[in-house]
Amino acid sequence: MNEPILIVGGGLGGLTAALALAQRGWAVQVLEGAPEFGAIGYGIQFGPNVFHALDRIGASAAVLEQADAPPVVLMLDAFTGREVTRVPTGPSFRARFKHPYIIIHRVDLHHVLLDACRRDPRITLESNAMVTRFAEEGDTVSVATEDGRMFRGAVLIGADGIRSRTRAQLLGDGDPLPNGFMGFRTIVPMAEVTADVRREVVALWGGPGFHIVHYPLRHGTLFNIVAVFRRTAHSERGDVAAYRAELEHAYRDAHPTMKALLGMLDLARRQAVGDRDPVRQWHKGRVVLLGDAAHPTLQSLAQGACMAIEDGVCLADCMTAARGNHETAFRRYEQARVVRTARVTLESRHMWEVYHADGIARDVYWQALGERSEADVFQCLGWLYDGFAMPAGD
Ligand SMILES: Cc1cc2nc3c(=O)[nH]c(=O)nc-3n(C[C@H](O)[C@H](O)[C@H](O)COP(=O)(O)OP(=O)(O)OC[C@H]3O[C@@H](n4cnc5c(N)ncnc54)[C@H](O)[C@@H]3O)c2cc1C
Repeated sequence: MNEPILIVGGGLGGLTAALALAQRGWAVQVLEGAPEFGAIGYGIQFGPNVFHALDRIGASAAVLEQADAPPVVLMLDAFTGREVTRVPTGPSFRARFKHPYIIIHRVDLHHVLLDACRRDPRITLESNAMVTRFAEEGDTVSVATEDGRMFRGAVLIGADGIRSRTRAQLLGDGDPLPNGFMGFRTIVPMAEVTADVRREVVALWGGPGFHIVHYPLRHGTLFNIVAVFRRTAHSERGDVAAYRAELEHAYRDAHPTMKALLGMLDLARRQAVGDRDPVRQWHKGRVVLLGDAAHPTLQSLAQGACMAIEDGVCLADCMTAARGNHETAFRRYEQARVVRTARVTLESRHMWEVYHADGIARDVYWQALGERSEADVFQCLGWLYDGFAMPAGD
């Protein structure tokens, strides 16, 4: 191939793919629509599976330097604060899964990947390059950007997130599916945390139609809060006072600690929550999708970015093993990734239902979760946290 590989989107998936491809000898051009690569972000949790992929691009040590490893992930009852279940993420977890469970600021993670991309002469990074459409022409594919520029490549990887324009043109299967929930995310200095919470752990408070997740970042100096609730008619007006009223209504029966956490939220921006039904094919011709563009998921398993990173490394390996035969490479990549990512999507939907259950269903889920031993918990997570088999070459 004389033309570079084009990647639309410089998020975690796009940059991982760029790095993995460049390290295997490919020239890559990354087109990012935002004025800067990786400028915004909140906290992110990573299961140990991500390290199988990060090891393959030599990024594990740099990521670990920026990360923290919580001693435990707790699920708490949103009314009483009682512990429902826990995933111990200390020494026994490390012994079982060989890698840690980590929490990290997304900006720090992005910068590890971005710095590595900048050091690699095979990678060209273009910001302010919002791609509007692509066209296949013989042995190449070209893209146009909003500001009228054109870029040409041998193949095109659509890593442009949940609202992917590449997917819209490639598959034409409509918008992602909103699930009726809205979320607010906030980071505050740890010194300003007034709520009576355990600060060193990852905690999820689950209630009927609402939840809150919190955990520390940057070695205990920052505190990350995500509050999610089922949307009601209260929210039609889009201003802070209306959002506050809606939150107070949704969390009216919540534990006082949850209410104290709500008081710390930045209500300027909120996000609709959604995913897509899994599909089997992510490519046509010279164009292929990865990450949220291919398989967006609810955040209940905290795996969307892990999956995007696994995709990036897997696709690079498939391209290399197929020596540039893109049809073979894309098929092998889908075979390796479709069922695993679909399982993440579907199990995340199930966990979403569990977190937000009401009435007797809630009692049943709480009892079943409470009965699980540490060995049971590790057994349930094995399919995910043990990673996946990269496809063999020729
Ligand atoms: C509240 C919340 C919490 C989450 N927590 C976790 C977690 O703890 N762990 C985890 O693993 N995952 C988590 N996720 C999921 C994770 O954020 C996503 O799965 C991940 O960011 C997907 O990466 P991506 O590279 O595919 O897409 P994105 O990160 O969305 O990146 C896409 C990039 O493409 C660019 N772009 C878009 N359109 C164009 C275009 N037309 N032209 C050029 N560039 C374009 C965007 O600017 C962006 O930089 C969470 C998600 C949410 C909403």
